[in-house]
Amino acid sequence: MAIDFKGLDRRTFLRGTGLLVAAGAAGLVLPGMASAATVPRIYSCAEWNARPPADPLVTLNNKANRILVHHIASANSTDYSLAHAFQICRDNQADHIDNNGWSDTGQHFTVSRGGYQLEGRHGSLSTLRGGKQMIRGAHCPGQNDNSIGIENEGTYTSVEQPAAQYKGLVALCAYVCKQYGIPVAEIKGHRDYYNTECPGDKLYARLPQLRKDVAAAMAA
Ligand SMILES: [Zn+2]
Repeated sequence: MAIDFKGLDRRTFLRGTGLLVAAGAAGLVLPGMASAATVPRIYSCAEWNARPPADPLVTLNNKANRILVHHIASANSTDYSLAHAFQICRDNQADHIDNNGWSDTGQHFTVSRGGYQLEGRHGSLSTLRGGKQMIRGAHCPGQNDNSIGIENEGTYTSVEQPAAQYKGLVALCAYVCKQYGIPVAEIKGHRDYYNTECPGDKLYARLPQLRKDVAAAMAA
């Protein structure tokens, strides 16, 4: 189907002629279009060809009660492709294992600048789907047993993130909040719990709007 999904307003699209059903049946991926009515397409570690964890990971028998938003502090690439998103995840995992000495990718999920949502640490996606357990993270000391870490590709100290990435972040946060019963007020920035500039002044300043948009997405 030669449809420019990115050019369509979501509500207009949903009021359309059943195209969403057709798109879903055809397995098409619509980045950032998740809502309470649709489970977002989150690419698994197997799909982006992750390395196995360097050490066994810990599955916790508790839900998450918070989301921490991060930026990777990587280049603000203009490659918005899925292939690039996969590469970002592989590079990020290698950095965390080889340079930081961690067991696996530190965060639970990653959002690419193109708006793709991807699993970070192994097991994060299946536990999120179940909604009762979480994988111990390595994204913020003191918060790894209770908060879901979401890394955004790029650096947002002085520029805003691309619209597609923001939409992907909203969709992912809405799904995480829904699955674990997390109030949107508990969507926080890394800097709220650690001495860091992460997720950058621009992205941090957008968190109040993010909470509103996530609440709206959950109510849709
Ligand atoms: Zn961070």
